[in-house]
Amino acid sequence: MTRTLTPSDERFHALLRTFEGRPAATAGRAKDVVNEPMIRHWCEAMGDSNPNYTGPDAIAPPTMLQAWTMGGLSGHTDRSSAYDELFELLDGAGCTSVVATDCEQEYLRPLRPGDTVTFDAVIESVSPRKTTKLGTGHFVTTRMDVRANGEPAGTHRFRILKYAPAARPQTAGPETARPQTAPQRPRRPRPVINRDNQGFWDGVREHRLLIQRCTACRTLRFPWLPGCNACSSPEWDTVEASGAGTVYSYVVMHHPPFPAFDPPYAVALVELAEGVRIIGNITGVPYDKVRIGLPVHLEFLRVDDTLELPVFRGGAG
Ligand code: ZN
Repeated sequence: MTRTLTPSDERFHALLRTFEGRPAATAGRAKDVVNEPMIRHWCEAMGDSNPNYTGPDAIAPPTMLQAWTMGGLSGHTDRSSAYDELFELLDGAGCTSVVATDCEQEYLRPLRPGDTVTFDAVIESVSPRKTTKLGTGHFVTTRMDVRANGEPAGTHRFRILKYAPAARPQTAGPETARPQTAPQRPRRPRPVINRDNQGFWDGVREHRLLIQRCTACRTLRFPWLPGCNACSSPEWDTVEASGAGTVYSYVVMHHPPFPAFDPPYAVALVELAEGVRIIGNITGVPYDKVRIGLPVHLEFLRVDDTLELPVFRGGAG
């Protein structure tokens, strides 16, 4: 869908651009100094056993940069009004939805236990109107400069899309003409396919569950990633999963009910025979009979005309 920008779009963008350079947070101060318990929790959650993050000379994982600046449930009191004003403007223009799109980090100095973290954040740029699959809106990029004991430690750039949601594709005609009876059942969300995971979805189309394998150190990885967490090599090939696995953990979804899903249903973290884990629905077993350790085997579920998903049938062999 393309649309030519009009002079009013350009005027609106010029107004949005007056926010560029305005502070989003000034003289922010981390609620905790860099500390070993938070480092350990992070490493456990990430499954990162890098020895640099433990012991007397430990540094914090660089990717924790933003974690030290987060306000937690109670937030920070030093938040500037510029961000709120910008959001109000965008809301007023119909861009009422928001999605985080990406972040970039740059590391200038390692963070060590005991370091005091301070930061400033600035609204760096607001893009012209863009149309994406989600809808039409503006990308807002915020740059946070992080310091440790007053020295530059890194930067964290965070980008969101503030947008007006696109009309649902199954809607015939304008929103107001939508029939009042027998609403069409919403479709399951589509997977986001990008250059990093394209090969996985190509495999699904051929009814093959492909696991990435690092060609340098042979470590298997799932979900698909651009590089190896074990040795950092970007080179990889794939192995096809046998389809055998066991339920490693699971949840049963009751509430909130999402359109296109029929709760209750079980979603499991399945450990494949190859050792990696994948999230999927469990079929063939009542939701209340799913258990940790349940043997499962891979199937492909045709959800609708354009979506097929790997799922796991319980009670295998
Ligand atoms: Zn590797």
